[in-house]
Amino acid sequence: MKNIENNIKILKKKIQYLLKNNNSLFKEIKIIAASKNQSVEKIQTVLSSGIYEFGENYIQESIIKINKLKKNNKIIWHFIGKLQSKKTKLVAQYFDWCQTIDREKIAILLNKHRTNKQLPINVLMQINISKEENKNGICIKNYKKLAKIISKMPHLNFRGIMAMPKKEKEVIKYYNYENIRNIFNILKNEYKSVDTLSLGTSFDIDTALIYNSNMIRIGKDIFNR
Ligand SMILES: *Cc1c(COP(=O)(O)O)cnc(C)c1O
Repeated sequence: MKNIENNIKILKKKIQYLLKNNNSLFKEIKIIAASKNQSVEKIQTVLSSGIYEFGENYIQESIIKINKLKKNNKIIWHFIGKLQSKKTKLVAQYFDWCQTIDREKIAILLNKHRTNKQLPINVLMQINISKEENKNGICIKNYKKLAKIISKMPHLNFRGIMAMPKKEKEVIKYYNYENIRNIFNILKNEYKSVDTLSLGTSFDIDTALIYNSNMIRIGKDIFNR
């Protein structure tokens, strides 16, 4: 577990350095520990290093962990996996954030399953920034319509957008990031609640911060996967 603590120290230093040297729009960025396939013990080590937000991909696995860690009321859980309709009820029940809304049906179901006893669930719209149509996320040309639908739902709190660039070794095409930043700025101007751009994983933190990401989702660089 020493490794995890050390990794987090290095990660925080790296972010400080990048924020100082990039003239980033944001002074602070939120780190989400992407904890899929990671044990409760490892999550506890991350917690003791001062990171309280976790991103989970698989609903069954995550509910076991959420229940085991229920006593810690500081933890914030983000659903970052691909979301099927039949899983929306559990996401609405257990999570504080859902980052992967990519179609109207998912928005409607999440809204329906979030109860009046709960705060609205924070949501991000996942945008497809790769040029392949079959990748996860909504196509760039359709995002405005979905944004409007999400913003009208009483049990959803529309916070912004999320994107997941492809990981091939090929050079990252910068115009994709540029697109995402533009969409974020347009939505931020249009909707008061929009304040979050979730962009950047272990392999592209540098680029993501240049393009004004203020939330990054880190697995490998924390857990040595
Ligand atoms: C696993 C995962 C991450 C973290 O990726 P790393 O390369 O391990 O940092 C981020 N976002 C999503 C949606 C993921 O599934």
